[in-house]
Amino acid sequence: MEKLAIDGGKPVRTKEYTFGGIVEVGDLEKEYVMQALDGDTLFRFHAKNSFAARLEAYYQDRLGVPYTLAVNSGTSALICAVAAAGAGPGDEVIVPAYTYIATAAAVVSVGAVPVIVECDDTLNMDPQAFEAAITPYTKAVIAVHMRGVMAQMNEIVEIARKHNVIVIEDVAQANGGTYFGKQLGSLGDFGCFSLQSFKIITAGEGGLVATHDKQWISRARFKHDAGYQFWDDEHNKVPAFAGENFRMSEINGALAFAQVQKFDELLTKLRTNKKRIVDGLKGVEGIQLQRVVDPEGDCSICLNFFVETPELAQKFSDALSAEGIPNGTLFNGGFADRHIYRHWDSILEKRAASPVTPWNCKDYKGNVQYSKDMCPKTLDYLGRAISIYLNQNMQEEDSNDVVNAIRKVAAHYLKK
Ligand SMILES: *Cc1c(COP(=O)(O)O)cnc(C)c1O
Repeated sequence: MEKLAIDGGKPVRTKEYTFGGIVEVGDLEKEYVMQALDGDTLFRFHAKNSFAARLEAYYQDRLGVPYTLAVNSGTSALICAVAAAGAGPGDEVIVPAYTYIATAAAVVSVGAVPVIVECDDTLNMDPQAFEAAITPYTKAVIAVHMRGVMAQMNEIVEIARKHNVIVIEDVAQANGGTYFGKQLGSLGDFGCFSLQSFKIITAGEGGLVATHDKQWISRARFKHDAGYQFWDDEHNKVPAFAGENFRMSEINGALAFAQVQKFDELLTKLRTNKKRIVDGLKGVEGIQLQRVVDPEGDCSICLNFFVETPELAQKFSDALSAEGIPNGTLFNGGFADRHIYRHWDSILEKRAASPVTPWNCKDYKGNVQYSKDMCPKTLDYLGRAISIYLNQNMQEEDSNDVVNAIRKVAAHYLKK
C-alpha cells in the first residue's frame, strides 16, 4: 500500500486546492448595478422596471408559486414567514438541531418558542423527531435544507398536515435545489431564501419569501415594511399590523437579478462534478455517504460522508488534508459552530431582548427544556461526518484527486 502523506508519503494532490467559495461576480452584476445607480431612485417601490420586482417575478416563475417578496436577508425572510403564519407569544415553532442560529432566532424574534429536534443521516430534520415534538402549542415547523441537500419534505409535509402545522422551508443553503422535480421553497407553505455572501448566489445581503397564499403574502409585506399599508391598497383587504423595515434596495435587487441569470449553469456544473465524485466512491468500504433522498436535486456544494466514530473522523480528516484535500469534520467539540444548536447559548438559556421572553411570558403554556446534550443523535452524525467543499470550476482531474485521496486514506484506516 502506498504510504499516507501524513506518514511522510507522497500526497495525492500536490496542486493547490483553490476551490473555496462558489460565488462569481462579473460583468453582468456590474452592468445591472450601474443601471440601478443611473435610475431615478434606489427605492424599489418607486423605481421603474425595478430589479427587486424582477427578482420576485423570476422566483415566482422558477418556483411556480404565485407570490414572492424580496427582503434584505434570509433572517428577515424567516421573520416575515413566521409572522405571516401568525406565530407569536404562546406558540412553538419546531426547528432542526443543525441549522444556522438565525432559523431559531427568527422564531424568538416574533415572541414564539423554538423547539429543537434531532437530525438524521440526511443531516436534516428527522421527520419522526418532528412528529414527536408536536404539542397543542405548535404553530409551525421550519424544515431546513442544509448544505445544499433537501430535507425529507414528503414526510414532513404529511405530518404537518395531519397536525395542522404550517410548513416553512429554510432554503438559505439550498437555493436552486429540487425535490423530485419540484423546487425547494415551493413544497411547504412558505419558502425562505437568503442571498447573503456565503450562499449559492448572492446580492451581498438579501433574501426572499415565497408563498401560495395571498393573505400570507400581504402579512409578510406588512411585516417587511412598516409603511406598506399606506401605499398599497390591494393589500388593505387584510388587516395591517406594525411592521419593520426589511425592504430590498435596488442595488441588491440588481446584483441578485444578475446572479439568477447564471443560476442553472452554475448548478449543472456543481452537480456534474459531485456526481463524478460520488460515482468514483462506489464500493469504498467503511464510509457512508450522507443520505440524499433525491440526488438529482442536490445543489452539490459539498460532499459529506460518515465514518464509524468521531475519533476516526478526526484522524481521517487530518490524513485527507495531508493528501492535499482540505476538509473538516462537522462537529469536534472545538470551534463553536453557529450551525449546531449546542452553541446557541442565548436560546438554550432562554434569553431575549427584554426580561419578558417567549418562554416566561404568561401566554406560553408549554414547557420546552433545552440542554447542550439534548440531541445526541445529531451530534453523533456531525461528529462522524467529514465534509469537503466542492466548486463549479472543478475539472475531472480535480474530482479524481478527491476520490483518490479518500480511497487512499480509507484503504489505510477503515476496516474491510
Ligand atoms: C444563512 C442562513 C440563514 C440566514 O440568512 P441571512 O441572509 O444571513 O440572514 C438562515 N438559515 C440558514 C440555514 C442559513 O444558512
